[in-house]
Amino acid sequence: MRLVTFRDDAGERIGVLDGEVVRDVTAADGEWPDSMLALIAGGPSVLNRVRGAAGAAPSLPVSTVSLCAPIPRPAKNIFCVGKNYREHAQEFQVSGFDATATVDAIPEAPIIFTKPATCVIGPGAAIAASLDPTASVDYENEFAVIIGAGGRAIPAERWAEHVFGYTIVNDVTARLLQQRHKQWFLGKGIDTFCPMGPCIVTADELSEPASARLRTWVNGDLRQDATVRDLIFDIPTLIATISRAITLEPGDIIATGTPSGVGIGFKPPRYLRPGDIVLTAIEPIGSLSNPVI
Ligand code: MG
Repeated sequence: MRLVTFRDDAGERIGVLDGEVVRDVTAADGEWPDSMLALIAGGPSVLNRVRGAAGAAPSLPVSTVSLCAPIPRPAKNIFCVGKNYREHAQEFQVSGFDATATVDAIPEAPIIFTKPATCVIGPGAAIAASLDPTASVDYENEFAVIIGAGGRAIPAERWAEHVFGYTIVNDVTARLLQQRHKQWFLGKGIDTFCPMGPCIVTADELSEPASARLRTWVNGDLRQDATVRDLIFDIPTLIATISRAITLEPGDIIATGTPSGVGIGFKPPRYLRPGDIVLTAIEPIGSLSNPVI
């Protein structure tokens, strides 16, 4: 099932994406959870009710509604993973922008940082490059895991029991802020710097996340092309690593890292400019198209 948060004249609510239409499950039953976070927290019984009702729910053409980020305002910061693809770790190392660089480009343990919930935007929304005083905005297409059942000290082999589904996150970054402030939070936390969506594909519908393929185009020019199988630290390892320290809760988001092909991998760097269009696609989730302003 493909779950969306959408908005029209009647307000913001959750729905099921079915080809070119959104099934308005809220209209079918006023008792539905009023947000994606509430739906996820409701567990398998609520998800099954949504699945059962979707077929008979009123259908709205996608073109007549606005898709929002599936979780428009996460309950807490988005967990992110740095340097989690070999070729990207190397391109970041040689770019000179990595203030955390060591002799070895490949990290020995997952690098975990976060983006604030306030920077999330949805499909089609604008990335405000004007908010970066250093004019060094870069894209990072990332496969993101949405946590269903929470937990602490989750064993890697039980990871699948804790995953609700998957979505796309573009970990937009102001490279010179990332470099200048050492800690990555400022450069990656600017308002609008986290396009997310267009939907959450539920875990049952993507039984092999490792086969998901990420591709990014800037103004039609292909920049990134990789599969989740190329991750250095895989999804089970990331869930085990984070939950060893921090309790994971329903609706938490883990962006798993970006492959090579980002703007600082080029000499000179190819930063995003106002007027550019960034298309981040992950098969089989869908794609996000965000203009840069
Ligand atoms: Mg990233």
